[in-house]
Amino acid sequence: MEVAVLKYPAVRNYVAGQFVEDAGARTLEVFCPLTGAVISTVPLSGGAALDQAVQAAQAAFPAWSATPIKERVQIFYRYKVLLERDMQALAELVREENGKTLDEARAEVEKAVELTEFACSMPQLIQGEFLEVSKGVEARVERKPLGVVASIAPFNFPNMVPHWTIPNALVLGNCMILKPSEVVPLSAGRIAELLKEAGLPDGVLNIVHGDREIVEAICDHPGIEAVSFVGSTRIAKVVYRRATSNLKRCVALGGAKNHLMVLPDAHPDMTASNVAASMSGCAGQRCMAGSTMVGVGQVDHIVQKLVEEARKIVPGQSLGSVISREAKERIEGYITEAEQAGARVLLDGRNAVVPGQEDGYYVGPTVVDYVTPDMRIAQEEVFGPVLAILRTNTLDEALAIENANPYGNAAAVFTQSGSMARYVMDHASAGMIGVNIGVPVPREPFSFGGWNESKFGACDITGKSSIEFWTQLKKTTTKWNPESRVNWMS
Ligand code: NAD
Repeated sequence: MEVAVLKYPAVRNYVAGQFVEDAGARTLEVFCPLTGAVISTVPLSGGAALDQAVQAAQAAFPAWSATPIKERVQIFYRYKVLLERDMQALAELVREENGKTLDEARAEVEKAVELTEFACSMPQLIQGEFLEVSKGVEARVERKPLGVVASIAPFNFPNMVPHWTIPNALVLGNCMILKPSEVVPLSAGRIAELLKEAGLPDGVLNIVHGDREIVEAICDHPGIEAVSFVGSTRIAKVVYRRATSNLKRCVALGGAKNHLMVLPDAHPDMTASNVAASMSGCAGQRCMAGSTMVGVGQVDHIVQKLVEEARKIVPGQSLGSVISREAKERIEGYITEAEQAGARVLLDGRNAVVPGQEDGYYVGPTVVDYVTPDMRIAQEEVFGPVLAILRTNTLDEALAIENANPYGNAAAVFTQSGSMARYVMDHASAGMIGVNIGVPVPREPFSFGGWNESKFGACDITGKSSIEFWTQLKKTTTKWNPESRVNWMS
């Protein structure tokens, strides 16, 4: 039988600075969602492969954690330059495995650069504390790394989400096991290669590929001190419960249902283009996507402009594909169900076909008006380029809808009234709020993280808050006063 040659060689794990085959592992095909073609395969490793990676990380930890932080960051200064050097190739790889547009893929790598820059500023942020607490007695507090930590990533940002954790955790002295999404496993290998080129010692970053089995093994492994997770709420809960029941630190980011509240005084053009971009960027496969608009009062003029804006978004050009055939079917199912329940489909992206990419998984931009709160499209994360519009008479009704949804990643308000904006800032139940901004991602040094069922665990995953997550405090009290009667309380 003829064996097809795939575009990319079979993906391998990365342990102690080497790509290693996991011969016994189950394997999965990797698809390019733009074309539906199989482009590689990925191993679905288990506990034995994880053991090797943890041993490599443990072996690297003493020397890495003892390296002064000012030396550790030098590697990441070099790495930032390498990311910029390879920006185009990294973006093309993201596009190929994830299906987003090249501009979106580039933006993802640019964000990885910014995350790396932040990690380079770490020496300025983590100075300890020191005080002479009584005569000749000194107390000092230092931040120390945890040891071996793990980072589990989703499919929607194959390059950026690993950079939410790798630069900060490593600069702070930890060694890491990265578990990329098995759906988009290609970018991680390039990240590892570039870090090695920048001078990262072997074993500081290791990669194991896999699915549920390896994630459960990570949560159970006694050699892993902390687990970060980004993915759906259903799995975030599983991971948070399992990792913490094994007495590990855990921060687990989940899904989202972000509400964009649009008031009649909102600037029509700016609001229309912002809302259209928020719902359709990365084909709606963003935890920050504004998937629900709540029109407060008479906003028909804005809805009309919004539909005009959304109509300009063309699948295969300014709109990428969704991740899989199942995702396309699921997304289209939400639209059909809402339509059957009485909602009005103002712009219909079902059955989108891109010439030359007929087997790609495309959903066109979709706007569904007069959605009611009881519909599934209003309640669940659709994760496609679909905007559900609900209508209310008052801002309090809009906020009640926003507050009632179990998620709490982001919320936004579009208005020209400062007091209305302030009211939403005070009353929306979400971790990240936008005022006239549809995708209110906090940029470094501010941290990223939602509320409610969009995040489990005390810390955010990036920015200053992540320092708390990736380190522990060592408190030392010293006495240099030779008088024997003097004790630490003197
Ligand atoms: P997912 O939950 O299916 O997968 C995430 C990770 O969990 C993957 O590495 C996967 O291998 C692993 N996994 C899958 N099933 C598992 C199981 N049964 N047990 C243990 N591990 C399992 O998420 P996804 O589809 O890759 O990503 C999309 C989701 O991620 C969306 O819900 C999106 O909102 C969310 N997301 C959230 C944020 C955020 O910051 N809150 C950011 C990006 C993505």
